Amino acid sequence: MRIMMVSSEAVPFAKTGGLADVASGLSNALAEAGNEVVLVMPCYRRFIPEDQRGSVVGEVRIDFPSTTIEATVYETRLPGDLVKVLLIDCPSFFDRSGLYVEGGSDYADNAERFLFFSRAAVELARTLFIPDVIHANDWQTGLIPALVLQSREQGGPLQDVGTVMTIHNMAFQGQFPSWQMMNTGIHPRFFNWRQLEFWGHLNLLKAGIAMADQVTTVSPTYAKEICRPEFGYGLDPVLEYRGDDLVGILNGVDMTVWNPEIDPRIETQYSADTVEEGKARCKAALQTEVGLPEKPEAMLFGMISRLTDQKGLDLITLKAGQFLGANVQLVVLGTGEERHENYLRGLQESHPEKVAAVIGFDDALAHRIEAGADAYLMPSQFEPCGLNQQYSLIYGTPPIVNAVGGLADSVVDTNSETLANGTANGFQFHHYHGDAFLDTVWRAVGLYQHFRDDWRKIVDHGMRKDSSWSGSARNYIDVYERALDRVR
Ligand code: ADP
Repeated sequence: MRIMMVSSEAVPFAKTGGLADVASGLSNALAEAGNEVVLVMPCYRRFIPEDQRGSVVGEVRIDFPSTTIEATVYETRLPGDLVKVLLIDCPSFFDRSGLYVEGGSDYADNAERFLFFSRAAVELARTLFIPDVIHANDWQTGLIPALVLQSREQGGPLQDVGTVMTIHNMAFQGQFPSWQMMNTGIHPRFFNWRQLEFWGHLNLLKAGIAMADQVTTVSPTYAKEICRPEFGYGLDPVLEYRGDDLVGILNGVDMTVWNPEIDPRIETQYSADTVEEGKARCKAALQTEVGLPEKPEAMLFGMISRLTDQKGLDLITLKAGQFLGANVQLVVLGTGEERHENYLRGLQESHPEKVAAVIGFDDALAHRIEAGADAYLMPSQFEPCGLNQQYSLIYGTPPIVNAVGGLADSVVDTNSETLANGTANGFQFHHYHGDAFLDTVWRAVGLYQHFRDDWRKIVDHGMRKDSSWSGSARNYIDVYERALDRVR
């Protein structure tokens, strides 16, 4: 199958969150399974140096009402060489110091930037690489299904092209004033409550959900949750309306990048058979790196996160003071809302022997935290899929999670039954509440400190679980086939 994956970010070129890991991890897995995959993304000049952009393979021109915007198209490859990457280079839109945000504010022209990007990607599907399926991801590409549908109505090369829209997070919908319709290239008749319009605004995620041939999201549990008002952010009726066209597929992990057996960024490589010695060395190195006393017996919690309410920072704020009373340490790596950053800096100041708060974005340190921590905290309010709990399983770092979305689908709570049947790999709590979180932290501390054999078992179960992309990539192929059944 010929697949065009369109994403506003992808590792190793530019990343703000899980979408970047998924765009390249899934593309690679699809290519490994024998499909021809082309990944299209913006050429963020500050993040993609000239020598990584490859060679020029074309140009695109998109007519806006008052001007024509042109971009150069570069072609390069993902590491591993299986996937072609088309970079859309339009410096006036993408030569910036952020991807979407600068100085805490969204770029004022985000609508124009990503409407242009979506239109340019569809243009490439007409001219440079005619795919069987275009796979759009999140609001930045939400216009694509509408563009393809309109083009199908007009005949031409996109006639038989199926579209798939993947939702990575309902909290970001790309909602803009209605006058932005003029920049979409879409006929105004599509601006209605069943398609592009949402309470008088242009809503790009809704557009994608309503108009794609198939819709997916990144875990089975989240697929159910978003059909309810608490998680649907107003789009739950549209999602419910799509019925069986909405499928949840758990993200896999790119095992060439997140794998303690080969990870070059960590102190020493280790496998499930050598985890005890391996993690002890990684832990000592991490403690030294982040300025904590090197204490092998202190249980070290790790956390790597956007510092937002979604990620459960208020539960940490509520309860850290209590669990730091035990023989534990905490290392947090993250950036985000100022109040959370300040809180963590303050926590480090008041507990210098116990807390390291690294405010920043540091991919290599993220790997070393996964390897060096004993357990991982992920008490998210909601979590479409979540990657760090999966990395934690692979690195032998049992995660402590709120049982929502992909956290519910990947972490198996530790109890007598799951210990006996060999599935226990972490700890879940079931109400987004400080006491439920704290109780679960205590359960983990108790097991780690007093029942080390059982702790070893849950580490082992997590490390041996198949978290790779191969199964999920097969599920995506099924979805692509269903999309094609719609159009052919
Ligand atoms: P989300 O996409 O909602 O932010 P995910 O768990 O799906 O959450 O993915 C987050 C990804 O971003 C993970 O790969 C995580 O390691 C990475 N990440 C988040 N914050 C940082 C940071 N400050 N430094 C390095 N990596 C980070």
